[in-house]
Amino acid sequence: MFDALIIGGGAAGLSCALVLASAKEKPFANNKHIGIIAHQKTSHLQTALFNNVLGLKPGTTGASILKKGKKQLATLYPHIEQIEKEKVKEIIYSNDGFEVVTNKNSYTSKIVVIAVGYTNLFTIKGLDAYIEPHPRAEAEKDRIWLKNTDHKIKDGLYVAGTLAGWRSQFAIASGSGAHVATDILTLWNDGKHTKVHDKIDV
Ligand SMILES: Cc1cc2nc3c(=O)[nH]c(=O)nc-3n(C[C@H](O)[C@H](O)[C@H](O)COP(=O)(O)OP(=O)(O)OC[C@H]3O[C@@H](n4cnc5c(N)ncnc54)[C@H](O)[C@@H]3O)c2cc1C
Repeated sequence: MFDALIIGGGAAGLSCALVLASAKEKPFANNKHIGIIAHQKTSHLQTALFNNVLGLKPGTTGASILKKGKKQLATLYPHIEQIEKEKVKEIIYSNDGFEVVTNKNSYTSKIVVIAVGYTNLFTIKGLDAYIEPHPRAEAEKDRIWLKNTDHKIKDGLYVAGTLAGWRSQFAIASGSGAHVATDILTLWNDGKHTKVHDKIDV
């Protein structure tokens, strides 16, 4: 059983995983079992080129971010389970949390974060009730969001990135993933607001 399982290894999913992972020294987070289904094949990062993102060298490709993001997570935070080469097909609700069914396996988790992007090719069963036309994208593009309030769909179920209803910009999608991570950490910290900062020694 995972405590938190993130679905999608793009901008929002990887950012959410990095922030959750970085809380490992905090007592309320250090025994948590966290995973990410790091599917990247259909990420919008695959074809993106970045010149307008603070902190990224102009000319950085989205494809390189996908690769480096997974490596950063594995190197700094090996306690996070990265599940490769699996695509989520269905989410089933249970009393203990959620069952996440992929094309190869099935996992259970108390908390699930959906970060699979906002295309209408969305095929995860069990979430249909929350799908609506995207509120901040051109209507002719047929984008969707999962209806939510501040990223929360219902108890234990969060959405992050473009699928949460945000416009498609890298910084916004990453920020959305980080936001969800701090909400989960705050929940684990009995409602006390939480953030994770590293600092230089002075
Ligand atoms: C061509 C192009 C150029 C761009 N240029 C810029 C730019 O210059 N500046 C800027 O700020 N932004 C730019 N963007 C936008 C930016 O790339 C997106 O806003 C960002 O990638 C959205 O992040 P996300 O996490 O919501 O979705 P994504 O990054 O698309 O991630 C979704 C992830 O979910 C995975 N997934 C999908 N279905 C499943 C499933 N069933 N099970 C498991 N995983 C699944 C996908 O493989 C993918 O890894 C560009 C986008 C494109 C397409």
